[in-house]
Amino acid sequence: MRFGIKTIEDFDVKGKTILCRLDMNQPVDKETDTLKSIVRIKACVPTLKELVEKGAKLVLMAHQGSDIEYKNFYCTRPHAKVLSELLGQEVKWIDDVVGPTARQMIKDLKEGEILLLDNVRYVSEEQTLFEMKLQLTHEEQAKTLMVEKLAPLADLYMCDAFAAAHRDQPSLCGFEYVLPSFMGRLFEKEYCVISELMEQPERPCTFVLGGAKISDAFLMMETVLGNGCADKVIAGGVVGQVLLAAKGENIGEDSIKFINKGGYGHFIEKSKETLAKYGDKIVLPVDVCWLEGDERKEAKVGEIPAEIGIMDIGHETAALYKEIIMNSKTVFVNGPMGVFEMAPTEYGTKEVWEALGDTEAYTVIGGGDSITATTKYGKTDKISYICTGGGALIRFLTGEELPVVKALRHAAKTF
Ligand code: ADP
Ligand code: MG
Repeated sequence: MRFGIKTIEDFDVKGKTILCRLDMNQPVDKETDTLKSIVRIKACVPTLKELVEKGAKLVLMAHQGSDIEYKNFYCTRPHAKVLSELLGQEVKWIDDVVGPTARQMIKDLKEGEILLLDNVRYVSEEQTLFEMKLQLTHEEQAKTLMVEKLAPLADLYMCDAFAAAHRDQPSLCGFEYVLPSFMGRLFEKEYCVISELMEQPERPCTFVLGGAKISDAFLMMETVLGNGCADKVIAGGVVGQVLLAAKGENIGEDSIKFINKGGYGHFIEKSKETLAKYGDKIVLPVDVCWLEGDERKEAKVGEIPAEIGIMDIGHETAALYKEIIMNSKTVFVNGPMGVFEMAPTEYGTKEVWEALGDTEAYTVIGGGDSITATTKYGKTDKISYICTGGGALIRFLTGEELPVVKALRHAAKTF
């Protein structure tokens, strides 16, 4: 037991059928039926190896993309192929999640064998809960189709999907109410790293916040500044823009449009309070970049043209942020400083990532695009810990109990 959750040690898994929920969600190339990154899949390997060596029968469940942004919604066939190669053993795959064929294959599994089911979001309850059109309690999730069909075939449920631990869906939160359950090694490790970061960071502790998906970022900022975990927050990306606007700076019409399109407009008003309370600890860009055609343009804050859309932090800001990172003992990063995917607007992110590689601080990075930037700038081996989760990590840092943690704790008390 750790953090009130059972671990592999708590069970004799030999000969047991274990339903294993993983997070293997990765960018897909549909034309070639392959994955563009396998970072998350690699992270799943140690737990699976351990369970196979102990003689368990493994049934793997995972999601791939969502049908909201449809682009990345896909089957899990390429994941089975990658896993087979990484594990050096066949991972069976079936284009079915809960149907009779999938169930028969589960019954036929032998010790040490692995079966990966298809995308769990093909099951409607999983998807409607993801979209939050429907809200079910965990007890109700335990009565959904997926849990009712699969749980009777298994002895145990294991969750190693820390990156999805902020989701409230049957494949993540339902099985714990009907089966003895535990977390895998990856879940345990990520939980441990982040809770230590939150509870006793070496100081000064700096949070680098950027990116474009910023809904939890502000609540998280409020929490880590409020509880004293963060000594400083440095803001780039859309987070920086919102804070500049809250301070009353002109950030350009296109920036405002982008913020509103993402549904983040209300954060401008909200973060005025955050700035009033913690302004001395929040460091904002002093210059910004935009594009004219393909050309990079920069201006100091206060002299930003009325119509532009900010795409990166400027040179002075990058230098300032680098210095802060170099002088920190702990650095937590979520979200790039700008649109680093394009050459003219990558400068800020590239420079900040240089500092992350060079600093002696303990560095933790989370978030899909932040991990992509880490790979792109060749810093993977220089970062102390790369967390597979982005959303889950941020939600954790807001201090809220994650839905999957709640479910796993319930199971620990019940079974
Ligand atoms: P992560 O995946 O690391 O959590 P996000 O998904 O929140 O990060 O944000 C990453 C995306 O934000 C990148 O694709 C990047 O192009 C975009 N981005 C960063 N800064 C800006 C900006 N100023 N304007 C528009 N998009 C931005
Ligand atoms: Mg992202």
